[in-house]
Amino acid sequence: MSAYLDANATSPLRPEAQEAVLRALQAPHNASSVHSLGRDARKMIEDARIHVAALANAPPAQVIFNSGATEGNNTVLKFFAGERILVSAIEHPSVLEAAPDAERIPVTPGGLIDLAALEKLLKAQKSALVSVMLVNNETGAIQPVREAAALAHKHGALFHCDAVQGAGKIPLDITQLGADFLTLSAHKLGGPQGAGALILGLCGITPILLQGGGQEKKARPGTENTAAIAGFGAAAQKAMDGLNDFAALAKLRDRLETEIRKSMPGAVIHAANAARIANTAFFSLPGLSAETLVMAFDLEGIALSNGSACASGTVKPSHVLAAMGAPQDQLKSAIRVSLAWNSGPADIDRFLEIWSKLHSRLAGIATKQSSS
Ligand code: PMP
Repeated sequence: MSAYLDANATSPLRPEAQEAVLRALQAPHNASSVHSLGRDARKMIEDARIHVAALANAPPAQVIFNSGATEGNNTVLKFFAGERILVSAIEHPSVLEAAPDAERIPVTPGGLIDLAALEKLLKAQKSALVSVMLVNNETGAIQPVREAAALAHKHGALFHCDAVQGAGKIPLDITQLGADFLTLSAHKLGGPQGAGALILGLCGITPILLQGGGQEKKARPGTENTAAIAGFGAAAQKAMDGLNDFAALAKLRDRLETEIRKSMPGAVIHAANAARIANTAFFSLPGLSAETLVMAFDLEGIALSNGSACASGTVKPSHVLAAMGAPQDQLKSAIRVSLAWNSGPADIDRFLEIWSKLHSRLAGIATKQSSS
């Protein structure tokens, strides 16, 4: 029996999204064409816009479709290049690397951005933009975004929020949050890969990355990915209908963490005291190697990851844990379990069954290695 426990990397496709994608692919659908197929495509995109806007309780007209959150984050951060930008130290690489000169807002050992430090940075010098994510993709910690946005505005800066890991999982309101720019990605909430959205707040500024045709009111030229956008819309609708089911994943996650702690008293659950998204458990098992664990679980048909998907495969220790001040033995032994919209108790049973098998075997190897 296999178990997919890596939903923060990419979520299983929802059947409704698959259906919408396939329907759109059945004919040549270019939404700029004036013939009836073009009009069909336009309708699919505009329907999707309504459901994607609802993820953030935003007006549909404020939604700009793009290829995903990497593009969305680059669009916003690069628009402010040359100006002073503040980004949290635990942002996704698509924010950090799009603004290499940005100053970093530190985070507390508990995994939340340090608001006092943000205020100090804002007071020290005028800033154009502050970027803080809604939910960290590794720890699942929900960041104090509303407070950060209020501070940014108080000091004359605009506010960007990468809401990829929160949208369709927790209630989200762009106005209440105070975000001027919000980035979303379809494949994190059960839609297809290759579709995302930049949602504009009320600041009246539209950051643009690409030049070309007139699509998306010129804000994002390029023929729309009709099928992926249609799938995004269907997934968004289903995710919003299922917010309570998503919240209920916390029970499964808590059971997993309780069992891990029981079996290994030295285990460290990261951001355990912060408000966290329901599906994410990120923990270190000091003495064990995260890479070995991920591979060993994989051999048993269990998919999970060491930190974020973008950092894995490269054996790079988590910059998120490093920013939280975690020691080396925790960096080397951190694995992330992230449940999906369709995860159930059987997935946790399977994980725990394999963990109890691996635990004794790998702990034995670790002891031998440290004494040799
Ligand atoms: N931001 C966060 C917080 C993410 O987790 C990811 C995906 N790992 C991205 C941005 C990038 O999204 P996409 O895959 O749509 O480019």
